[in-house]
Amino acid sequence: MTYEPVIGLEVHIQLKTQSKMFCRSKNAEADRPNVHICEVCTGQPGALPIINREAVRKAVMVGLALNCQVAEYSKFDRKNYFYPDLPKGYQISQFDMPINGKGIMELVVNGETRKIGITRAHLEEDAGKLVHPSGANYSLVDYNRAGTPLLEIVSEPDIRSAEEAKQYLQELQNMMRYLGVSDADMEKGHLRCDANISLRKIGENGFPLYKVEVKNMNSFKAVANAIDYEIKRQSELLDEDKIPDKETRGWVDDKGITVSQRSKEESQDYRYFPEPDLPLMHFTKDWVEKLKRELPELPKVRKERFIKEYKIRENDAQILVSNKELSEYFEQVMSELAEWTKPEMTITAQPVVSSILGIFSAAINMAKISAKESKVKPENFAEWIKLIQEGKVSNLAAKDVFSMMFKTGEDPHVILDSLGLHQVSDEGAILDAVKKVIAANPKGVEDAKTKGEKSFGFLVGQTMKELKGKGNPQKINEILKKELDL
Ligand SMILES: [Zn+2]
Repeated sequence: MTYEPVIGLEVHIQLKTQSKMFCRSKNAEADRPNVHICEVCTGQPGALPIINREAVRKAVMVGLALNCQVAEYSKFDRKNYFYPDLPKGYQISQFDMPINGKGIMELVVNGETRKIGITRAHLEEDAGKLVHPSGANYSLVDYNRAGTPLLEIVSEPDIRSAEEAKQYLQELQNMMRYLGVSDADMEKGHLRCDANISLRKIGENGFPLYKVEVKNMNSFKAVANAIDYEIKRQSELLDEDKIPDKETRGWVDDKGITVSQRSKEESQDYRYFPEPDLPLMHFTKDWVEKLKRELPELPKVRKERFIKEYKIRENDAQILVSNKELSEYFEQVMSELAEWTKPEMTITAQPVVSSILGIFSAAINMAKISAKESKVKPENFAEWIKLIQEGKVSNLAAKDVFSMMFKTGEDPHVILDSLGLHQVSDEGAILDAVKKVIAANPKGVEDAKTKGEKSFGFLVGQTMKELKGKGNPQKINEILKKELDL
């Protein structure tokens, strides 16, 4: 390919607060339209906005996590446009004095560290929603979402591929969850992304003369697909010496294409001016420093800690921390195990990690639930691990026990009893079985002594049969060898 994509992302994050951005109406889903509304968020004349302190605090937390420069002074501005879901005729947003200025996000893409610049992260209010009843010649409007707090995070055009864009978004989503500022669920619209995409010749450094904005992508996959589609569409135009139009395009997911929606607005079209009804905000150094010290543990720090504390592989630690709930689940299982373990014993985390990333992840992914929603409680998971390590259940039977735990949420001991899957590790019981087999198979014993492995395997099989398939294979091997003087 002779072109290189220049991609910048604008991400809107719905902040999780009790009330809306500028009024006391509830910031929550409702089962009916226009429940969580008041005179402010429906734009009644004379109604005055007030700033939601919690939303501001959360916005600064995100800024700090993104290494942004937090402004000393910040203000709100009116962004004027007319649309039925915006009753005031303007949106309260931030123009030239955003809360968070320049920052940086580090990504590891295909083993290479990439730094994506953050241009700014500012606060604004969301609009309502238009509802188009099918077959009707009118539209309805629902203001439940109107005035809820949104944080817009704008990246520098530093992204160079669909894969990088996807990772940037996943990292951002994970960060929001660690910070506890948003559920950041893309399918539910908590995290929305617009992409600015253009191409330049490889080797060029400047910005392309045009910019295409793509909207309406509601999954990570859709973002990646839309970017790949645009790269292809724009290269074909450029190959014919045509400059792609500067425009806004919408992603049509079921067709896998983007379609032209309108020419792109310039900021002067919005006639921004300072919001006269809200005061200037002043962030003192002390307040910002305090907030920084109180930030929750972020994925990068947690990953380093996991590697150090539990001695697990870097790659496993990375996968664990990329899912907040899964990483917490892992720690809960480890602390349960630690409680049962005698001080002189060391518990190894690797089998726990392998099972969490293996059988447990497969099960929750299949059921489309999160770690927290699983019926397998961490203490039961820990008990299950212990049963395997103590040889009370074979690896194969352990899988059946786990499936049952996942289905019913029952204690693994109870399941083991009810399924009769106990593995016999008791040396006395195995020795009895071994003696019986030796007495009954003189030819087999002879062969095992002279012919080796294969004949020995026969005796192992006979002992296993004697123990109804529940013998601990390792113990059978050991005891049989001892009895045969091998
Ligand atoms: Zn309201």
